[in-house]
Amino acid sequence: MVTLDPCSRLNTIYCQLVPSIIQDAEDNKYLNTRSVIESGFEKLEEKSYQLGQKCSNCGNCGKCEAETIENLFLDIRESLEVIWAKQLSNKLHQVVNEPLLVC
Ligand SMILES: [Zn+2]
Repeated sequence: MVTLDPCSRLNTIYCQLVPSIIQDAEDNKYLNTRSVIESGFEKLEEKSYQLGQKCSNCGNCGKCEAETIENLFLDIRESLEVIWAKQLSNKLHQVVNEPLLVC
């Protein structure tokens, strides 16, 4: 088993786990998995802060400061909201159009 330093693990979160969460949200055609994605996302955010604290000695890597992590996760949250708002409006659109299809 490879043990990565906190800095590299944060990098994995930024470069692999976060994009995969966003991809999951985009692929999600059904709104009922939103809560699953949200709770996974919150755990990831928590983990990032823990790693950031462990790595606070590494100085100028630029990824581990709490402020950087906070801004990043705010950005991701916004992206997710946009994705979900779009899906919701698509869904509403479908509901509105359903009677037309039945006729
Ligand atoms: Zn670092």
